[in-house]
Amino acid sequence: MGAMIRYLDTRGLDGSRPTFTGVVMKGIANGGGLYVPERLPALSLDEILQLADLPYAQRAAQVFRRFETDVPPSRVEELTAQAYGEQWDDARIAPTREVAPDMHVLELWHGPTSAFKDMALQCMPLFFSEAISMRRGAGEEVDDYLILVATSGDTGKAALEGFADRPNTRIVVFYPAEGVSDIQRKQMVTQHGDNVGVFGVRGNFDDCQNAVKAVFGDPDFNAELHREHGLKLSSANSINWGRLLPQIVYYVSAYADMVRQGGVRAGEPMDVCVPTGNFGNILGAYYARELGTPIGRLLCASNENKVLTDFIASGVYDISGREFVTTPSPSMDILISSNLERLLHELVGDTETVAEWMRSLRSEGVFRVDRDTFAQVRELLSGDFVTNDESLETIRRVWREHGYLLDPHTAVSWEVAERLRGDDPVLVVSTAHWAKFGASVYRALTDIPYAAPLPDDERGLTDVELLAEVQALAPEGACVPEALAVLDEARVRFPGVVDAGREGVEQAVRQWLG
Ligand SMILES: *Cc1c(COP(=O)(O)O)cnc(C)c1O
Repeated sequence: MGAMIRYLDTRGLDGSRPTFTGVVMKGIANGGGLYVPERLPALSLDEILQLADLPYAQRAAQVFRRFETDVPPSRVEELTAQAYGEQWDDARIAPTREVAPDMHVLELWHGPTSAFKDMALQCMPLFFSEAISMRRGAGEEVDDYLILVATSGDTGKAALEGFADRPNTRIVVFYPAEGVSDIQRKQMVTQHGDNVGVFGVRGNFDDCQNAVKAVFGDPDFNAELHREHGLKLSSANSINWGRLLPQIVYYVSAYADMVRQGGVRAGEPMDVCVPTGNFGNILGAYYARELGTPIGRLLCASNENKVLTDFIASGVYDISGREFVTTPSPSMDILISSNLERLLHELVGDTETVAEWMRSLRSEGVFRVDRDTFAQVRELLSGDFVTNDESLETIRRVWREHGYLLDPHTAVSWEVAERLRGDDPVLVVSTAHWAKFGASVYRALTDIPYAAPLPDDERGLTDVELLAEVQALAPEGACVPEALAVLDEARVRFPGVVDAGREGVEQAVRQWLG
């Protein structure tokens, strides 16, 4: 194999320089830093524009190839064809649509779970499984992997769907029994596949995440898994580079489509507005820009958990004394946007400084970037946030004015894009099908504020039944994806709920393994 891009650690503590499949398997660097590519490929404008002639899977293969992975190019093409195939309900996979003049929506929810996590999680598990096969093929002894996921909703289902029946891997997902929507829970507990397990945890998302983290940190349990089952633990969470690379592809692809559709002139910039939580999606846009995609500004949209808005305004990332707020866009309810560390590393280029900021965040709950870095942040990013009721108002307004239904995450993005847009066309990134968060859409269309109870008639309905109410209110434009429409009838395979804490989770895994 010729030149190959290797990966560096943002904190400079891990000098192992793994290959692409190495970072996919490992996830996080030794010492807690994140892996970033040691150099980036450059795409010419022609190369980008020509992607418009290819099906999406080949666009992805092309970008992957330019990242010089250690998976042979012909195999990359097979895997992306599998990742972006028949399971998507739109053959274009990630289409753009002009909803208002110069406001184009990038729809990232045509995958099997109706949320943007599918863009990465239909793909990354294939490379994970491939990474293990490649090592075995080379004579290495490698365990199978058990992926453990703590989820607040979208990630769990997308990871289950991505890893279901993938060779060399198994997956168990833990969700807070009190903290996911009716639809999200039903999506998970009805999951198909012979290598999957799902458990509710008594408690909230923090309890759930802490319990799973404690299992990762338990050497005895890790040894037991290896000894009795030949398994090693991995997390496959959103800081894994294997999830980021697929998220670069759709920005390059969207630019090619925008030019082809006349939304932007070849070579002229578009701005991109991203509803942001862990900073993974918007980081994909940053890398696409670095590769040469004509992207002007990155508009960073937050909900009431607006730590990023404040960081972009002040250069201070401060979670000390900040209350976690519940919002209609739960997948953005995050205080620590882990992937920001990668952007800071790219801007600063100095691992010691990044390591120091992350130390300060961990111990004091705050860090302040230097003047030069702050200036770079300001040039690249603009940020704003949207309140809970404003996001519902946006859903209502965009439906009335443009006949297009937004989910609450996309509503945050839309509203911020309208506020911050300049002269260039804007790509508003849409991260979930409206039906995935149908209860909020119902409130929006019927003028019920976020915090008010639903009327008596609706209170007893399941989320799926509420979708029918939305359809009655918005007859054109309100199709419900088949996989969501059948959820009330689907067979529950995983009714189990366990106690929060390390022991509850370990016991659940033991029993599930049999
Ligand atoms: C995960 C998610 C987000 C946030 O994406 P990040 O990569 O964490 O910034 C936004 N919207 C939806 C629907 C999501 O599932």
